[in-house]
Amino acid sequence: MRLAIVSDVHGNLEALDRVLEDIDRRAPDAVFCLGDFVGYGAAPNECIERLRPRIEGAVAGNHDLAACGRIRLGYFNPDAAEAARWTTRALTPEHLEYLRELPLAMSWRGACVVHASPAEPSEWHYVFTPNEAHHEMQHCHEPICFIGHSHVAGAFEIDGEFAPRRPESLVRMRPGMRYLVNVGSVGQPRDGDPRAAYLWWDTEASTLEHVRLEYDIAGAMARIRAAGLPAFLAERLRVGQ
Ligand code: ZN
Repeated sequence: MRLAIVSDVHGNLEALDRVLEDIDRRAPDAVFCLGDFVGYGAAPNECIERLRPRIEGAVAGNHDLAACGRIRLGYFNPDAAEAARWTTRALTPEHLEYLRELPLAMSWRGACVVHASPAEPSEWHYVFTPNEAHHEMQHCHEPICFIGHSHVAGAFEIDGEFAPRRPESLVRMRPGMRYLVNVGSVGQPRDGDPRAAYLWWDTEASTLEHVRLEYDIAGAMARIRAAGLPAFLAERLRVGQ
């Protein structure tokens, strides 16, 4: 199977269109979304409309649940909270309902899929270190788990007690190893590389490919400013932080 996994679109239509164009060209067997369709960006309805017919399934992100009222904004920083309130007002009733019904975690094509944490899907832990990756994978039954949330693309290879990070963009999976893979963010990368990110998983070749694509960042920034959202949310797209 050749599979594409996207995450953290965050209402960035310019980035999503570029990613979908690439996915269409490569024609995978299926596409999955790890959540955070909305929040921060200025095109939440358009992103759900565009992505929903293309995906086989999706799990909920914390920004999706904040927008539809399933979780409180208490721990959001001020810019994120303001964007969440803007998103709630902007979303159509149908899209609010769609987000409200998304599961927190599930098994998909032999992989565990969850927005942030396989150990505690409703706690929104971040996974940055090998120790954190190792802990999270102890709670996962599948040999591979896909996550988003930190907006930092990368794979951890779990080998017994260790979970070193595999830094290459094309990871060749080794027999007997388990993998925790952050697919990166389509619409708001924070790993210093402003290009849109998604993951390509080829189960026959046993490869994980972190794809990065240049897109119309200026267009996405202009849309955020025109919507009256916090200026910082536009600025950070340019630097990828
Ligand atoms: Zn996110």
